[in-house]
Amino acid sequence: MAAAPKAVEIRGYQVGFGDCFLLSFVYSDTDKRHVLIDFGTTELPTRGTPRKAAKASEHMPQVASHIAKVCGGSLTAVIATHRHADHISGFGTDGRTGKSGETIKAMNPKIVMQPWTEDPEAAKNATKATKESQRSPRSFTAGLTAMHNIAEAIFQLADSRPAWMSPALQKELRFLGMDNIKNKSAVDNLIAMGAAKGAAAVWAHHGSDSGLEKLLPGVKVHVLGPPDLTQTEKIRKMRTTDPDQFWHFLAGPKSLQTAEPLAKGFGNGHAGRSPAVPPEARWFRDRLERMRAEQLLQIVRTLDDQMNNTSLILLFEVFGKKLLFPGDAQIENWSYALEDAPDAARTRELLADVDVYKVGHHGSLNATPKKLLWEDFKRRNKTGSQRLVTLLSTMPGKHGKVANKTEVPRRPLLAALKAETALSSTTDLPFGKKPTFCYQIDVTP
Ligand SMILES: [Zn+2]
Repeated sequence: MAAAPKAVEIRGYQVGFGDCFLLSFVYSDTDKRHVLIDFGTTELPTRGTPRKAAKASEHMPQVASHIAKVCGGSLTAVIATHRHADHISGFGTDGRTGKSGETIKAMNPKIVMQPWTEDPEAAKNATKATKESQRSPRSFTAGLTAMHNIAEAIFQLADSRPAWMSPALQKELRFLGMDNIKNKSAVDNLIAMGAAKGAAAVWAHHGSDSGLEKLLPGVKVHVLGPPDLTQTEKIRKMRTTDPDQFWHFLAGPKSLQTAEPLAKGFGNGHAGRSPAVPPEARWFRDRLERMRAEQLLQIVRTLDDQMNNTSLILLFEVFGKKLLFPGDAQIENWSYALEDAPDAARTRELLADVDVYKVGHHGSLNATPKKLLWEDFKRRNKTGSQRLVTLLSTMPGKHGKVANKTEVPRRPLLAALKAETALSSTTDLPFGKKPTFCYQIDVTP
């Protein structure tokens, strides 16, 4: 076997709003080693007349089969960057994604890598993930679990659409709620794949061993994020305002009880619109309802950000080229690697000449730190083989709003990606009756 790959094929799969990337390290014509990074969707592009969103139960098994074909039925590793549905739903073995997770499981990945926050032992054993921290990772991971319950309550509330909820708010709450609901079947399958005979589960954090290097000779893998709790408190304390009520939900097992009355209290016939309100009091009622809507959105957005900040950030180095895959990591996760870690200066130096960048969080505004990362990329504005290659998996109109400059993908970032880099985006893949499943980029020395 060759001591190092002679090329890397990267495929970015069409999963609508979600991520699915396949890295194939080519050692020889007969020896390719495949690493799947994420496989999830929350919504697929539309097609047909009238236009309808494609069904995940039909499309995801087709993507899985395509991956199986490319991989010759065998995966070296599966990496799930974080627990959001748009990154892991395809690993599910139930009907929602047409059991696409069965196909992945049948490829017997030798390593299943997830962030440390997913380690079932971190939830059970407070000293497992951290030695020095005063804070217990147990309460942190319990908090992450509680989020799913809140997300579920908010999703159900949005689904029932009380009279005070505008269609726009309903759309946003449903989308964010759905992304944050626990995908039990996918989570279980990821754990089962890692526990299978001949496989290993890796729960990674900044600076930890990826376990991949012994399976991928000649490839160096740096785990840059997420930090664990000994390294930073930032991933639990967001820079943005944390609504008090949100932290109240995360206080402990009571959170489950708190989430329910919230949904009920906001439903029809409770605190919502009541025919008994006299006309002169209606302006006040409407105001209160608007406030509630804002708070709900704030809560669900904070949940979403918090989970993104548990995302793995991985840098692959091969034949002198650097490939950066940061999942959905947002600024709080990035800032440990780039500012606060003892090796931050070295990391920034390491990232300055990145050759391939998977655009963070589907092109959202705070997942590609401008000062600390983007402006340092030396290969921006270069030409030919020197030019920075960027990979985007996204679907406009799903997340955030143009009006408050939170749309995903964020337009100024998209414009910069188009102007300064060689951009490949899933939005450019034809998606008719016979969808084009992926774009392909070949990286060579
Ligand atoms: Zn995502």
